Amino acid sequence: MTTTVFPAPALPCLPVRGSRAQFPVHRIYCVGRNFAEHAKEMGATVDRGNPVFFMKPADAIVPGGGRVPYPPGTRDLHHEVELVVALGRDAVAEHQAQRIGGGVFGYGVGLDLTRRDLQAAAKAKGMPWDTAKGFDHSAPASELVPVADAGAVFTRRLWLEVNGELRQQSGLDDMVFTVADVIHELSKLYALKAGDLVFMGTPAGVAALLPGDHFRAGVDELVEFSGHIA
Ligand code: MN
Repeated sequence: MTTTVFPAPALPCLPVRGSRAQFPVHRIYCVGRNFAEHAKEMGATVDRGNPVFFMKPADAIVPGGGRVPYPPGTRDLHHEVELVVALGRDAVAEHQAQRIGGGVFGYGVGLDLTRRDLQAAAKAKGMPWDTAKGFDHSAPASELVPVADAGAVFTRRLWLEVNGELRQQSGLDDMVFTVADVIHELSKLYALKAGDLVFMGTPAGVAALLPGDHFRAGVDELVEFSGHIA
C-alpha cells in the first residue's frame, strides 16, 4: 500500500440507483454548444464538425445535489441543466471508443454551473474558460441510473425548475452531437477511463441563480434531483 505524506483526499463519488456501491469519478468532461437554440442565445452557432470541450475537476461534483454554496468571484452564476453520461470502461484508443456503446455505465442529470461574467470576459479576450467553469461545487449531479434500468433515454425530456418555475427544457433528441459522437471525438484528445463523466451540453434558457434559490432537475421517467443555492 502506498504511504502518503498527508491523508489523501476522499475520492469524489456519485450514488448509483439500486446499489450500495458508489461510482468513483475520475474526470469530468463537458460539451459546449450541443443544442442549437442555446448556441443561438449565447450568440454562437453549433459547428457540426467541431464540438467544444472543457473540463471540471472531479471534486467539483456535489453528489445528489442538496446544499450548493454560491461561489466566490462572480456576480452572475448561471444554471445549465445537462444529461450526464457515466463511463464504466476504459476506452484508450479511438477505435475502441467507437464501440463504447457497451462502455456507458449509466445516466444521470447535472448542472454545469457557470460564472457567466467571467466566461464573457474570457471569451472577449480569447482566454481560457477555467475560472468560469471549473470551480468548487460547480457540478451538482444526481444519482446514476445503470444502462440496464434506463430504457430509451434519448426520446425523453431534460428539464430544470428554479423555485417551482420551469427554466429550461428540451427533448434529448435535440442534441446535435450524440453520446457516440462525443465519446468518439473526446477519445481523439484524451484516454477515456472508467469513472469519467460527460456533461452533454445544455438547452436554451440559461439564467442566473441567486442565494436561496431552490432547483429541481431531471430527465422524464429516468431520474431527478434537487438542491438549493446557499
Ligand atoms: Mn454546459
